[in-house]
Amino acid sequence: MTAADPDGAITTEDGQRFPAGIVVAADGINSAIREAHGLTKDRIFGRDCGVRINIPRRPGEIAADDREGTVMIEAWSDKRRVLYCPVTKDAFYVLLTCTTKDTSAATSPIDPDVWARSFPAMRDLFIRIRDEADWPQSHWAHFQTIHLKRWSAGRIAVLGDAAHAMPPYLAQGAGHAMMNALALAESLRTESTIESALTEWERRERPLTEHTQLWTRIYGATMFLPKPLKRISILVEKLPWVAAQYVRAANHEPTGCTPARFRCKQALRTKRQRPGQCPAVAKLSGG
Ligand SMILES: Cc1cc2nc3c(=O)[nH]c(=O)nc-3n(C[C@H](O)[C@H](O)[C@H](O)COP(=O)(O)OP(=O)(O)OC[C@H]3O[C@@H](n4cnc5c(N)ncnc54)[C@H](O)[C@@H]3O)c2cc1C
Repeated sequence: MTAADPDGAITTEDGQRFPAGIVVAADGINSAIREAHGLTKDRIFGRDCGVRINIPRRPGEIAADDREGTVMIEAWSDKRRVLYCPVTKDAFYVLLTCTTKDTSAATSPIDPDVWARSFPAMRDLFIRIRDEADWPQSHWAHFQTIHLKRWSAGRIAVLGDAAHAMPPYLAQGAGHAMMNALALAESLRTESTIESALTEWERRERPLTEHTQLWTRIYGATMFLPKPLKRISILVEKLPWVAAQYVRAANHEPTGCTPARFRCKQALRTKRQRPGQCPAVAKLSGG
């Protein structure tokens, strides 16, 4: 798609024009459609970046699932962070984050010695990450937060990172993209005009999305605190009100997801993970 018309049409690379009732621009963080229609209110570049990769799990790690349930490990050391958890039975998802200035850490592939200096106990993991990840398919992303003036222009709806990119500390960017896509479909189904559907969609969904954008930045900002304050921030995170802000989106019942289906999904999740380990999160902090 090279252009979108607010009257409802797209133009493709070969110059063909296709009329449409609605155009959904989900063209990512560098959205050309968003820019072409002057929708950006602010685009904030953080001081942090990250890469995500998958590596194969070893038989012993897979076997441990039956004993320990699904375990997510998150470790912080100064301004570096490692998070990993099973993404399928056979693969670990690994997220590494650091500051954009930390050029010895933000390399593709990573240097295990550099990362093991911050997390000595994970040296073996870093060697696996260097050797087994699909590095040509990965890239270090500079984290950004994007807010729009409006989520739509005429009959163009802007969706996903194009509309509301956020740092991934709460792991909700894709979640919000999908929830908001479903909510848009629901709004189009229930409202009588496309214009009112777009207005109602943004009115209903935008507050939660912006809540997550704010709280994922707060979570990420703790890495820039001095060491004693970091310890305090970890304690503060455990306060029920603060903890509830972090998981508000994760606990939200998406618009368009009927309660019965939502309950069914929750039941499945609970069945897979043993009681008391749902999900098991081990958060380690090296200060
Ligand atoms: C390191 C990292 C870790 C993350 N971890 C998580 C996580 O754990 N959980 C989570 O929910 N989110 C996470 N996210 C965020 C998540 O990846 C994004 O929020 C999500 O991918 C956004 O989806 P999208 O479809 O809006 O954009 P994208 O995934 O960027 O997709 C946009 C697509 O549009 C295509 N495109 C662009 N321009 C055009 C055009 N003109 N015509 C046609 N197609 C076009 C692109 O090729 C691309 O395929 C993470 C992000 C990063 C950087």
